Amino acid sequence: MATNDLPNGFTGFGHRRAGFVSAADAIRARENKTQAQAAAREQRADEPEAASAPRLRPLGAMLADNSDRPPLRPFDEAELEAIDQRDRRWAWLEIDLGAIRHNVVQTRRRLKRGTRLLAVVKADAYGHGAVRVAETALNSGADYLAVATVPEGIELRRAGITAPILVLAQPPATSIPLLLAYDIYPAVYDAQFAIQYGEVADSHGMKAPFHLAVNTGMNRIGVRYDEVASLLTQIAFHRALVLEGVFTHFATADCPETLNFDIQSKRFSEAVDSIRALGIDPGIVHCANSAAIFRYPQVHYDMVRLGISLYGYYACPEMRSLVELKPAMSVHARITDTRLVPTGEGVSYGLHYRSAGSVKICTVPLGYADGLRRGLSGNTYFIVDGKLCRQVGNICMDQCMFEVDLRSYGTHRRIDPQVGDEVIIAGQKDGLEVSIDELADKLDTIQHEITIGFAQRLPRIYV
Ligand SMILES: *Cc1c(COP(=O)(O)O)cnc(C)c1O
Repeated sequence: MATNDLPNGFTGFGHRRAGFVSAADAIRARENKTQAQAAAREQRADEPEAASAPRLRPLGAMLADNSDRPPLRPFDEAELEAIDQRDRRWAWLEIDLGAIRHNVVQTRRRLKRGTRLLAVVKADAYGHGAVRVAETALNSGADYLAVATVPEGIELRRAGITAPILVLAQPPATSIPLLLAYDIYPAVYDAQFAIQYGEVADSHGMKAPFHLAVNTGMNRIGVRYDEVASLLTQIAFHRALVLEGVFTHFATADCPETLNFDIQSKRFSEAVDSIRALGIDPGIVHCANSAAIFRYPQVHYDMVRLGISLYGYYACPEMRSLVELKPAMSVHARITDTRLVPTGEGVSYGLHYRSAGSVKICTVPLGYADGLRRGLSGNTYFIVDGKLCRQVGNICMDQCMFEVDLRSYGTHRRIDPQVGDEVIIAGQKDGLEVSIDELADKLDTIQHEITIGFAQRLPRIYV
C-alpha cells in the first residue's frame, strides 16, 4: 500500500512522514499566529512540490483563515448547570414519588391506630435518593426513619429533616459525638458502647437515647434474646441512657416456611417481657420488615420497618395477594446508534450473538457500570415503541445493544427505531412491563441489589 493511502500521514509507528502536523502542534501554533505563519512559510520553502504529493493537514487548519476567529467567551456556569441530566447523558432513572406515597398509604392502612411506620432509607433509599424519599415518606404518613450508617443519618439532618432517625447497627464508639450532635439514635447491644455513649452525652448535658438490638436467631447483630435482662441490668445505673426502643430482625419473614419465623417471634416477645419484668419500659417495640408487615400483622407491635416495599417491590410471592404496590424506579435510555447487521455477523464482545438477517441493531448508552448486570446479557427485553425488543450480545460496561426485527409478517407490527428514540430498560409503558422483580429473579437475587445497582451512576429524575 502506498503511504499516501494512509490517513493523516500516519505511516506506521515511529515513521511519521515529513510535514505531518499533530493536533497538539496545531493548537500550539494557533496560540502564536506569527509563529504559525513562519512555520507555514518554512514548510512551503521545504516542500516546493507539495502539489504533486498532497500534504495532510489537521482538520482545523482546513479553515480558510484562523486569524479572525471570535474572542474567547467562556460559558456561563448557570447556563451549564441548566442543562438537564437527560440531555447530558442519554440514560437516566425516573423515581416516581407518587408511587412512594402510594406504598406508604397502602402500608398505613394495614396498621392499627397508634402503630408507627418507620421508612428504611438506608443505602441512599435503596438507590432512590434518601432525602427525597424520606421527605415524601414523612409527608405520606411515616413517623420514623432508619439508615445503616451515621453519615447517612447526617445527610438527612443536613437536609433539614427533623423526624427521629435510627441507625440499624451499633456504630463505632468514635462516632458518638456525631450521634449526639445530630440527634441520631444508635442500635446498641454492647454494655461498653452503651456506657461510653451515656458518658459522652452526660458530659454535654444531654440524654443518650438508643434502641436495643436483640438477636433472636438471625445471628447478625444484637444481644442474645436470653441475655437482654442481664445487659440492661449492667447499664441501668447510667442516668443519661434512655431506652428509646427494642427491636429484632427476621431472617425468614419472606420464606414460605414459617417455623423459623415463629421461633424468632417467640424469643422476641420473651425478651420484651424480660425487660418489663425488670420494671423497665422497653419503649418502641419493633421487628417487622416488609415481608412481616404484610404476612404477619401479629408482630406489628409499636412500629413496623418498611424497606423494599416502600419502593414498590414484593419481598416474596406470598405478598402479591396481600397488597398492591407501585414500583417507584424505572430505567430509561435513548438510542445512540443503529445499524443493519448482515446475516451471520456478530455483535458485542465475543460476538456470541449472530445476526439472523433483517434485524436492526440499536445501541443504548448504559451497561453493567450502571447496574444493568452483565448476567442479563441476551436475557432481558427493552420496551421500544410499543414492543418488547431483546437485548443481544454481551452487555458492556457502558453500553449495550438490542435487536429489532425488521421483517413484515402476519399481524407483527414493524417498528423502525431511530437514534434519539426513548427505550425503557425497566419500567412500564404502552401496557408492557419489564419489572425489577423479574430482573432480580433472572439473576437469582433480590430487588434491593438491582435498584441499588442502577443508582450507581445513572442520574435520578424525580417525577
Ligand atoms: C434493611 C432492614 C429492614 C428493611 O428490610 P426490607 O426487607 O427491605 O423491608 C428492616 N430492618 C432492618 C434491621 C434492616 O436491616
